[in-house]
Amino acid sequence: MGCLNQCSEYRGVRPIKSIQFSYVASADLRSLFEDFRLMCNDAIRIAIKEKPKSRFGLQALAYLRLKEYGLHTHYILSACEVAFAAYRNKNRRSDPYVKRVFLKVTAQSYRLNHMILRIPTSPRNYIFLALKTSDYHLSLIDDPILKRGSVTITEQTVSLTFSKEITINEPLGHIGIDVNERNVTTSDTLGDTKVYDTSKVAEIKQRYREIRAKIGEKTKQDRRISQRLYAKYGKREKNRTVQALHCVSKEIVELAKRNHLGIVMEKLKGIRKLYRKGNGQGTSFRGRMNSWTFHEVQRQIEYKAGWEGIPVTYVSPRHTSRNCSKCGTSQRFEGRTAICPSCGKREDRDVNASKNIMMAALGRAAQPPGGGCEGEPRRQEKAGNPPSRGVEVGPGDEPKI
Ligand SMILES: [Zn+2]
Repeated sequence: MGCLNQCSEYRGVRPIKSIQFSYVASADLRSLFEDFRLMCNDAIRIAIKEKPKSRFGLQALAYLRLKEYGLHTHYILSACEVAFAAYRNKNRRSDPYVKRVFLKVTAQSYRLNHMILRIPTSPRNYIFLALKTSDYHLSLIDDPILKRGSVTITEQTVSLTFSKEITINEPLGHIGIDVNERNVTTSDTLGDTKVYDTSKVAEIKQRYREIRAKIGEKTKQDRRISQRLYAKYGKREKNRTVQALHCVSKEIVELAKRNHLGIVMEKLKGIRKLYRKGNGQGTSFRGRMNSWTFHEVQRQIEYKAGWEGIPVTYVSPRHTSRNCSKCGTSQRFEGRTAICPSCGKREDRDVNASKNIMMAALGRAAQPPGGGCEGEPRRQEKAGNPPSRGVEVGPGDEPKI
């Protein structure tokens, strides 16, 4: 892993993307991490004793003590930032001191020359990190259009943020995307429909379901061991799923870009509920994994679209499956086929749903026959605002200390 995580999010018209590298660490870096950790803990100790009101107050109190470490001033300021946050949260944690640290280096303080990252330590002294990379990473690093932001270094990874100026153009049409367990189906205003097979994801899930069952059987005696194994395999399952969905989301966003189409997806409210803490206990792992997959598809499409300046709209999922995309009548189903009793249309149920999703964005959603009052005509959701649903791993997310 290491090189594959990436994300971006809407920020006005400056989307931000962050990419992760694994790297080769030198002994210097390890001692920098250790010094920084000690600085943070010194500052926490000072904060607990002196009770500063703000981060800046702590800076004033701790500056001379932290300066003794001989590191660049930049690290004193960020150690105070970390320490003040830990001090403020001290009542929530039994031990406020920092065990694992990360370093955040602002765009002004580091240099990146091709794949060699230079960060300052003490004044006029530097550490060099060799980033492990792929052609894709290189193409981003060497792209003159992209503006580099801050760098976050953990003991395992370096993540680098980029931003770029984009203009969001009014789309010429829309592409509706229906996410299902075994496929992702799209229909667009140009009249094209495409089904992307994601049964590989279902197979991955099946395989890991079996692995989990085995773990449960073999580690009955020791809950701690089983928890550790579940976590390990759960992570692997996620990584494989993310990769499998990556190709699909990429293709869809490229299609939208090529044809100047806006993207329309369902707002998956009910599924989101499964996500909440406290709800998780009673829900099977399978259920959580399914909802996670739906979200992962949408998250990937959203960030890739954001990076390209393609608008993304979310519409209500109400009746997108049930109603006929042609006349709006409630349909009956034979297996995967939807049959309309009114106009006689026979269509794959996912294709029908993706057409309904696409039309919901156009504001001419199929209405029940004989007027729009009876039944529940689909309402168009507010378009334009970038969806506020969080991107899971955003550039703003700091690694947990
Ligand atoms: Zn019909």
